Amino acid sequence: MSAVSDPDLHRDLRQAVADLCRRFPDSYWRDLDRREAYPEEFVKTLTEAGYLAALIPEAFGGAGLGVQEASIILEEVNRSGGNAAACHAQMYIMGTLLRHGSEAQQREYLPRIASGELRLQAFGVTEPTSGTDTTRLQTMAVRRDDRYVVNGQKVWISRAEHSDLMLLLARTTPLDEVRRKTDGLSVFLVDLRAAVGNGLTIRRVRTMMNHATTELFFDDLEVPAENRIGEEGRGFRYLLDGLNAERILIAAECVGDGRWFIERAVRYANERIVFDRPIGKNQGVQFPLARAYVNVESADLMRIKAATLFDAGQPCGAEANMAKLLAADAAWEAANVAVQTHGGYGFAEEYDVERKFRECRLYQVAPISTNLILSYIGEHVLGLPRSF
Ligand SMILES: Cc1cc2nc3c(=O)[nH]c(=O)nc-3n(C[C@H](O)[C@H](O)[C@H](O)COP(=O)(O)OP(=O)(O)OC[C@H]3O[C@@H](n4cnc5c(N)ncnc54)[C@H](O)[C@@H]3O)c2cc1C
Repeated sequence: MSAVSDPDLHRDLRQAVADLCRRFPDSYWRDLDRREAYPEEFVKTLTEAGYLAALIPEAFGGAGLGVQEASIILEEVNRSGGNAAACHAQMYIMGTLLRHGSEAQQREYLPRIASGELRLQAFGVTEPTSGTDTTRLQTMAVRRDDRYVVNGQKVWISRAEHSDLMLLLARTTPLDEVRRKTDGLSVFLVDLRAAVGNGLTIRRVRTMMNHATTELFFDDLEVPAENRIGEEGRGFRYLLDGLNAERILIAAECVGDGRWFIERAVRYANERIVFDRPIGKNQGVQFPLARAYVNVESADLMRIKAATLFDAGQPCGAEANMAKLLAADAAWEAANVAVQTHGGYGFAEEYDVERKFRECRLYQVAPISTNLILSYIGEHVLGLPRSF
């Protein structure tokens, strides 16, 4: 039996990640949230334990596991009360380097990423003017001899201050010179350590949750041509290749969140006595919890289905998108129910429900918004007319 469908491996993996996460209790995440600080110690520990190298082949020092196992790792982080957003990108960016990087690039970077010497945690796609309409992005990379010179701006680029490397999507051929709007975009591996102060400025964006997200300004940043991944002009396709993995991994985090909210709310509903009875005795409190549980568990089935297809090399676009939508909705429903069940204490910092509530709201919008998933299903699964 392959590792991909091995239930013993999954059980052991869950247990091991959960054990590691117990060393980083609620108070650890609460303190970071208050200080808007990056979970440096947690990411270091997860890396040293090898979990962030789950997808890197064994030949390069990784664990050589599938997306299903990677998704279990991230799920357990969120289920423990933590936030895998601090480090999840290393898993979903990895596919671009694994599938489209040259042998030389793989030899150069993968072992050092696997050992934790280098972090690949930043992914530079979104821009202020183009938003979801990625092919209209304006950051240009112009070839000059053995380099590309990059000018432009990105927004919402998370973890750029905490990563050594960033995958950057930029135009190498202007939009009005390409046959299809998806042509003429290229992907680069940018060494952030060398770039900052030499053509790259990073500015932090404050958000409602602790997310270490930033704006990037490129002013004649030079990137060696050897850092381009794959062929020039085909970057959008490389990006699309990785999106299903990203959706499955985020779905798993949402399932982890959903389970955390329900566990906490059930515990509270059993303990809190009002009108001489546990509040959970009231069906008005029970039923929303039961419904949220049903929805989280159903979303999980779609996530497992999508991950199984992905790891078997089968098409899984519909399943990955559905898993992301169902899990993000289920987590958000569970978050609301958890706040409601906790009454006033749902708003108190010390219960952590309000922190997780803020954190899980993101997945209705990023990395892909609910509307865009629905439009994918409408057009590509149901065959309805293209809208945009
Ligand atoms: C905390 C955070 C972290 C992020 N991290 C990263 C990162 O690391 N790297 C990165 O590249 N990006 C990142 N993003 C960006 C994220 O992927 C985008 O915010 C998201 O894709 C939406 O783009 P936008 O914000 O420009 O919204 P817009 O594209 O302006 O859309 C606004 C709203 O309109 C809706 N909408 C737009 N067009 C349509 C349509 N045709 N039909 C129906 N509805 C539509 C959208 O669904 C959305 O709800 C992050 C965002 C956040 C908030």
